[in-house]
Amino acid sequence: MNPEDFRKHAHELVEWMADYMENIESYPVKSQVTPGEIFSKIPDKPPLKPESFDSLMKDMDNIIMPGMSHWQSPNFFAYFPANVSPPSILAEILISGIGAQCMIWETSPAAAELEEKMMIWLRDLILLPPEFEGVIQDSASTATLTAILTAREKATTFSVNENGVSQAGKLRVYCSEQTHSSTEKAVKISGIGRKNLVKIPVKSDFSMDAAKLKQAIDRDLKDGYIPVCVIATLGTTGTTAVDPLRAIGEICSKSGIHLHVDAAMAGTALILPEFQWMLDGREYIDSFVFNPHKWMFTNFDCSAYFVKDATSLIKTFEILPEYLKTRTRGKVNDYRDWGVPMGRRFRALKLWSVIRSYGVEGLREKVNEHIRIASSLSEMILAEDDFEILAPVVLSVVCFRYKPSGYTEDRINQINEKLNHTLNDSGKIYLTHTVLNGKYTLRMVTAQTNVTMAHVEKAWSLIRETARSAIHL
Ligand SMILES: *Cc1c(COP(=O)(O)O)cnc(C)c1O
Repeated sequence: MNPEDFRKHAHELVEWMADYMENIESYPVKSQVTPGEIFSKIPDKPPLKPESFDSLMKDMDNIIMPGMSHWQSPNFFAYFPANVSPPSILAEILISGIGAQCMIWETSPAAAELEEKMMIWLRDLILLPPEFEGVIQDSASTATLTAILTAREKATTFSVNENGVSQAGKLRVYCSEQTHSSTEKAVKISGIGRKNLVKIPVKSDFSMDAAKLKQAIDRDLKDGYIPVCVIATLGTTGTTAVDPLRAIGEICSKSGIHLHVDAAMAGTALILPEFQWMLDGREYIDSFVFNPHKWMFTNFDCSAYFVKDATSLIKTFEILPEYLKTRTRGKVNDYRDWGVPMGRRFRALKLWSVIRSYGVEGLREKVNEHIRIASSLSEMILAEDDFEILAPVVLSVVCFRYKPSGYTEDRINQINEKLNHTLNDSGKIYLTHTVLNGKYTLRMVTAQTNVTMAHVEKAWSLIRETARSAIHL
C-alpha cells in the first residue's frame, strides 16, 4: 500500500468508525454466532498475490462484524466495561501511526516523560499519597503479578531472583474469597503456588473479614510460614465490595507484609470526593492498581500501577544487557525495568487526550451519573415483589435475581440462568452473572461510556417481561 492509498483508506476508515458509533445500537449486543462459524469462513491458506484493502473491508463487514460483541453499546451491561471514547480512539490512531517502541527513555523521551507526568496527574486525582510513583501496565493482572513478585523479593531479601524459589521457605499470600482470579494466576506463576494462597472469608457485604485475616496470619507465623503479600480489593468483580483497607493495613504493617490494592474498576470512582472513604488507610498501601481502560474512557490497554517504593520494584525487574546500556541510565525512568515486558506502547498519550478532552469535571460528571443510574435501578428492582437485590449497591453494579414464589432454590437458580441466556440471545442487552451464597445472580453494570437512564429503564422492562414469561417455558 503506497502513501496515497493509505491516505484514501484512512479517510474511509474514519467514516466507518463514526458510522459505527452512530449505529451501534442497531447491532445485537452479544454476538449471535456459533463456535467455528467465523473460522470456517476464513480461507485455509493466505493469498499468494496482493489483495486490495477494499476486499478486506468487505470481509470485515460481512464476516467479522457478525462475530463481534459490542462493548461500546450503551446496552452492554456485562462483566466490567472496556470503555473507549472519541479522544482516546484519536490518540490510539496517533500512537499506531507513530509506532514507537517506548521501552526506555532514549527510545522516545516524550513517551517516558509524558507517562511520568500522567501518572502524577492520576495519582493526585485519586488522592494516593504524593510519595507514590506510577507506571502504565498492560493489565491489572500484570500489575498484580508485578506486585506479588516484588513482595516475594522483599520478603526474601531479593534471594529468589538469584537462587530460585526452592530455598525461600514457605511463602504465603492472602486475599479474600471474592478476590479476582488474577491473584490466583499470579501466585501460580510466581512460584509461590496456589496452595499457598489463603482465601479469607468475607462478611455479609462480601468484603474481607479483617479479623479472620489476622487469625490466618497469626496461625501461619506460628507454623513457620512467611507471609509475603495481602491483596485488598476496592470494588470486587462480583459485587464491587470494598475491603476494609485500614484494618487490613494495620495487620500488614505490624508484620511487615506487602499490601497490594486491586482497584481495577472502582479506582476510577476515587476521583469523586464522595468515594474517597474507600481509600481510608492509604498510608499502609505498598502498591495499587486501577484500570483507566475499564471506567476512565481510555481504550484497552491502560492499567495505572502505583508503588510507594519504586526502588524495590526496579530491583526486582531490572536487567542490563550490553545493548540496553545508555548514557542517561539512572537519570531518567526506563520503564522496561518497572514490569514484565521489555517492549512498551506509547499508552500515556491516550490518557493525556482523554483527561484533557473531558477535563476532571467532565470525568467526574460521567462517573457520578453511572453511579446514580445504578442506584435508581436498584430502587426499581426493590419496588417489585418477585425480584430481589443480592448485594449492597456500592458503585455501578447491581446484583439481583428473579424470585417468583413457590419454587425451590434449585429451580430459582435454573430460572435465572435461563433468564440470563434468553436476554442475551435476544441481542437487545448483554448481562453476565455471578454466584453469591449459592444463588445464581444477575449482574447489571451501568458504566458503559454512553449509557443513560433511558437505556436502563428499557433494559429493566425487558428483564421484567422476559422473567415473568420465562418460567413458563
Ligand atoms: C477486571 C479486573 C481485573 C483484571 O483486569 P485486567 O486488566 O483485565 O487484567 C482484576 N481485578 C479486578 C477487581 C477486576 O475487576
